[in-house]
Amino acid sequence: MAEPLLKVSNIETYYGPIMAIRGISLEVREGSIVTVLGGNGAGKTTILKTICGVMDPQKGSVSFLGGDITRHDPDWVVRQGISHVPEGREVFPFLSVYENLMMGAYTRTDRDAVAADIELCYDYFPVLKERKEQPAGQLSGGEQQMLAISRALMARPKLMLLDEPSLGLSPRLVKEIFEIITRLNREQGTTMLLVEQNASIALNTGDFGYVLEVGRIVMEDTCARLREKEDIREFYLGIK
Ligand code: ATP
Repeated sequence: MAEPLLKVSNIETYYGPIMAIRGISLEVREGSIVTVLGGNGAGKTTILKTICGVMDPQKGSVSFLGGDITRHDPDWVVRQGISHVPEGREVFPFLSVYENLMMGAYTRTDRDAVAADIELCYDYFPVLKERKEQPAGQLSGGEQQMLAISRALMARPKLMLLDEPSLGLSPRLVKEIFEIITRLNREQGTTMLLVEQNASIALNTGDFGYVLEVGRIVMEDTCARLREKEDIREFYLGIK
């Protein structure tokens, strides 16, 4: 089988003396949506921060497109084709929607293609076009999530890391945003690694899933099969 797009091998990452992730290995195949499920504090955010270079692992390695990207700067990792949509969106509140999108394209010099990609973001999220002159801090939580995803898209990533896009959003908005994540995967070919507490939406969106508990992967399978497992249904989906 072809080499996976992303391969994380046995990483351990610490906050000071605290080991937050304890030997995690996972793979993301090109064109897929892979999800990592886990409760509060399981280590989901730390996995993404280690992949994108915000944190360095003490052990293990991360490879992307067959090359080692472990312990490189986040800026360099973005240039290799990995964009990160952080937890809590982290839009630039005093910049306009348009300026936030341009910030996402900071690695690019192809101005005509950047302009076309801004229009593409507006096609996926028409509300951003309506609000393009407004400061991002004035947007609702759902609109800020749309902006954070669009800003990440502006780097033309091969792989997008999404940290709990459902957080704090109404069920209707969660559904809308996950439909667009699926469309971006299918239509733009963007591979997605999605970490979520909302197991129901993540398992309905993903192709393959990992279940994380206290810094360790305790289960992995296709999302279709995970949805049928009794302990997943009981503990993560609330179905007895
Ligand atoms: P959440 O859904 O709450 O964001 P998570 O699954 O993303 O949880 P992480 O944020 O990766 O989990 O945290 C993993 C572990 O590391 C937790 O035990 C957490 O308390 C600890 N941790 C996270 N950030 C820090 C920090 N800055 N300093 C010390 N410990 C931290």
